[in-house]
Amino acid sequence: MKTQINIACGNSSLHNPPESIDPNSRKRKLIGLPREMMKEELAKAGLPLEQINMRVAQLWNWIYVRGATGFPEMMSLSKTVRSTLNQHFTLTRPEIVNRQISTDGTRKWLLRTQGDGTENSSPGDPFVDFECVFIPEAKRGTLCLSSQVGCTLNCSFCYTGTQRLVRNLTSAEIVGQIMVARDEIGEWPGVPRTTEGPLPDTERMITNIVLMGMGEPLYNFENTQTAMNIAADNAGLNFSKRRITLSTSGVAPKIPLWGAETDSMLAISLHATRDSLRDILVPINKKYPIETLLAACRSYPGLGNARRITFEYVMLKDVNDSDEDAKALVKLLAGIPAKINLIPFNSWPGSGYDCPQSERIEKFAQIINKAGYASPVRAPRGRDIMAACGQLKSESEKSHNRNHKKHESIPESGKEQQQ
Ligand code: SAH
Ligand code: SF4
Repeated sequence: MKTQINIACGNSSLHNPPESIDPNSRKRKLIGLPREMMKEELAKAGLPLEQINMRVAQLWNWIYVRGATGFPEMMSLSKTVRSTLNQHFTLTRPEIVNRQISTDGTRKWLLRTQGDGTENSSPGDPFVDFECVFIPEAKRGTLCLSSQVGCTLNCSFCYTGTQRLVRNLTSAEIVGQIMVARDEIGEWPGVPRTTEGPLPDTERMITNIVLMGMGEPLYNFENTQTAMNIAADNAGLNFSKRRITLSTSGVAPKIPLWGAETDSMLAISLHATRDSLRDILVPINKKYPIETLLAACRSYPGLGNARRITFEYVMLKDVNDSDEDAKALVKLLAGIPAKINLIPFNSWPGSGYDCPQSERIEKFAQIINKAGYASPVRAPRGRDIMAACGQLKSESEKSHNRNHKKHESIPESGKEQQQ
């Protein structure tokens, strides 16, 4: 029986995960290391110092541009260097323990990594699981990344918040989600595209990254920042910063800092226009109320008409979906370069909330539109496989029990097609 973990709302001092050592081989993981750290590691492994800069450049190219999964294939390196690398390092990604494809083509991967050996993972259980979702559309492919296993911030309408197992993901695990997704859909040079499920009709299939999976990314600031720097590096995964969006429930003091450090796009989970309601829906509001949050938004670097903040607003029937709420929203955001993204509530067992009728959502959107805001209603994706916004929960406990028989339980051909 596991002990309940009580982590107060607003607690950002989760144990950080262990150093990124692969538990099987005991080798250091190279994926997710910033250049400077990679240099140090290569030096420790005995590579000649005068070669280190060149080796790092070569490794980044093999890892992030070509998608290498092992050192033997790195033919531009000498046999001796490959052998040294192989002795000390690994390029393992998080292990895929389940794959699901929605009827709408959305794909969800359940990924496994080691526990951190603290009370934040179950005692004696070396594994934790988390999820990553790929949403293909005609002209874009969005990859939704998790930043934590679970979340400490019990937003009342979010399934992830009910998961009690919580720990920060390492930069290796965050970047690893992108690597896994590329492996799975076949987005490396010379690798055939997957034939399963629809894919965007674009040269690159993963065009956008959103930090909207499990967890509050600003409570795992450093690891998320390191990971996004690798994602945006043009010698790395080479995503445009304008196509990387961090969504936060409102960790106000970190918002301008995140913008200054990463230059990424920002989304705010607003969901209510008055503190009395937001305190209930998004409890971090008690610590950083709406006024404080919006002040932080106003100081987001580079804000302007060409670079707007997206305000996410989950539509909850009879809770925040009235015409008055829509008018209050418009008033509240006056003066902030903003887009408003209406998210129909995605239900989960025992939530106690309902999604409004589509006419109600339309009416709400019209009011916002008339006030001059783009107000797209986010089309729910992957609801049938619980992959839509706020439906992610890895249920590590159950998976662990299965995992004791891990090697026989991994559905190798187990791409669960849900029709
Ligand atoms: N923790 C971060 C990012 C992950 S949640 C945040 O809260 O911003 C991504 C988005 O999904 C957030 O806007 C969140 O409020 C929303 N969301 C959570 N549960 C939902 C649900 N059940 N239905 C619709 N949207 C939900
Ligand atoms: Fe955490 Fe975001 Fe869910 Fe709130 S909405 S519980 S911050 S994941």
